[in-house]
Amino acid sequence: MTATRIDGKARAERLVGEVAAAAAKLKAEAGIVPGLCAVLVGDDPASQIYVRNKGKAATAAGIQSLQETLPASTGEADLLKLIERLNADDRVDGILVQLPLPHHVDAQRVIAAIDPAKDVDGFHPQNVGQLWSGGRALVPCTPYGCLVLLRETLSSLAGADAVVIGRSNIVGKPMAALLLAENCTVTIVHSRSRDIPAALRRADIVVAAVGRPEFVRGGWLKPGSTVIDVGINRIEVSGGKGRLVGDVAFAEAEAVAGAITPVPGGVGPMTIACLLRNTVIAACRRRGRAEPQI
Ligand code: NAP
Repeated sequence: MTATRIDGKARAERLVGEVAAAAAKLKAEAGIVPGLCAVLVGDDPASQIYVRNKGKAATAAGIQSLQETLPASTGEADLLKLIERLNADDRVDGILVQLPLPHHVDAQRVIAAIDPAKDVDGFHPQNVGQLWSGGRALVPCTPYGCLVLLRETLSSLAGADAVVIGRSNIVGKPMAALLLAENCTVTIVHSRSRDIPAALRRADIVVAAVGRPEFVRGGWLKPGSTVIDVGINRIEVSGGKGRLVGDVAFAEAEAVAGAITPVPGGVGPMTIACLLRNTVIAACRRRGRAEPQI
């Protein structure tokens, strides 16, 4: 069996098109241009690239892209003051604090200071609680992107055995909440779990968010399962060049699974598309307008 490749790039392009149409409608009907402000502290090159890419994607979708760049030495009090200012700024519908923050800043305190209505990353405790209790949350972008791909691949998720590898607040935990809300039977495994291959052998759905290159082996998978690979790992190959691989050994897994996301071109593009989606949704909700069904 060779698994179907789940084309995250194409699905993301479609979602961005839907977001752009919703943004254009908001502008035409109410003169509202949704605004997304990225907060970047320090000069980490990877974070600079992420923020730049998010900004470009926002602009292309008709969302106003704003950026606040602060030196790595910025104290927590000053960062909290900036968040307060952005909370009060009516041009800003979404606030994105690029992680990781410098060690001297308590990231949880900064996230908790963001107005939950503008928390387009979905990390504020209020949005986390809404997600787990079935309320109206802004949902974290990467797991929501995984869910969109799963819905597109499978006719129904209800009753499926789903295993999430990883329990981070950014990916693993919200992914588990979303799958539970879809009526999957959800297992979360992590670094202290005893027998991950045994859990995976029963899984109809596997979401791998481990951060370890090619961690999941093909022989661990149930034949025909759907595999979503969140991992982005750069490995060295001959000639000193780097190559991106996921958390799943793709060639092995492709021979066993029914469908699988590639890396790159799977989950990655969905994350930015879902961030733009959250920004337009936040812009509508904040003003009591009907939100687009995208
Ligand atoms: P993270 O915060 O480092 O969490 C990794 C999780 O994997 C933890 O729960 C950890 O368990 C678990 N883990 C680590 N080693 C393990 C092992 N040997 N066996 C079982 N579980 C193990 O990472 P993250 O932020 O969730 O990200 C995970 C991956 O997704 C990374 O490669 C990251 O680059 C990628 N990512 C991609 C996107 C995207 O847009 N595609 C977005 C976000 C993240 P413990 O909790 O027990 O330590």
